[in-house]
Amino acid sequence: GHDRLLMMHLTRYARDQRLLITRDVTQIEKLETTRRDFVANVSHELRTPLTVLTGFLETLHDMPVDSMSADQREQYIEMMHEQAQRMQAIVADLLTLSTLESSPSAEPHEVGMAELLEKARKQAEALSGGRHDFVWQVDDTLDVLGSETELISALSNLLVNAVRYSPERTAITVTWQGTPDGGARYSVADTGIGIAAHHLPRLTERFYRVDRGRSRAIGGTGLGLAITKHIAMRHDAELEIASVVGKGSTFSLRFPAERVTR
Ligand code: ADP
Repeated sequence: GHDRLLMMHLTRYARDQRLLITRDVTQIEKLETTRRDFVANVSHELRTPLTVLTGFLETLHDMPVDSMSADQREQYIEMMHEQAQRMQAIVADLLTLSTLESSPSAEPHEVGMAELLEKARKQAEALSGGRHDFVWQVDDTLDVLGSETELISALSNLLVNAVRYSPERTAITVTWQGTPDGGARYSVADTGIGIAAHHLPRLTERFYRVDRGRSRAIGGTGLGLAITKHIAMRHDAELEIASVVGKGSTFSLRFPAERVTR
């Protein structure tokens, strides 16, 4: 309402001035649309598991106790647990995103990348369960100035995706190396399903997925890359994505020289 009033008021002013302000209003409207879309997306993402959960609960509740075997009962409970976990993962990621957006970066300190990569390695290998062939090329003399909790989450997000979107017995190559400009690059190269070029610019949008069903089935929230992008920005790093359908993807974080110590 205010914007419209402002516009009407401004039509009385000189043409250039009006043009200038009009652009501002458009920007406000755009932000407002983004916010509305986001709220709609969150609602939708939470409603789906909630509907499934409620369905199972009602069935369990309505079923006479002796008409159901212990095994069947166990199965129902397990499926309900899965849906609850999915909602938990979405809410946890939303909180992370909101913290990243609203809190200023803490004073950067030197983060030992060798230990961090070791943690990420253990996590990724546990998730893979020996089904992928990992190759690690780590220069353990390079450290980063920043936040340890943020960096570990960015490193593992990219690794977890590589595991999730690659079939068994494929290679995942993780490198942490210096770059000629004095910076350093972390990259995760998989030989998995790959991503078509037209999806690439949108991958870091919240809840954007190439294949919704697949991502959900493997437990993705659709927020991992949005979080990673934010963390990259807070470390002056670039998130680079290169991918070929059917061949695999490489996700990299490029840290500038000012952020790297050796
Ligand atoms: P999700 O939780 O769905 O994995 P992300 O934000 O981490 O959400 O990733 C967004 C989408 O990008 C994924 O749903 C998937 O379609 C695609 N994607 C991410 N990483 C990879 C990868 N290594 N290989 C293929 N597709 C990927």
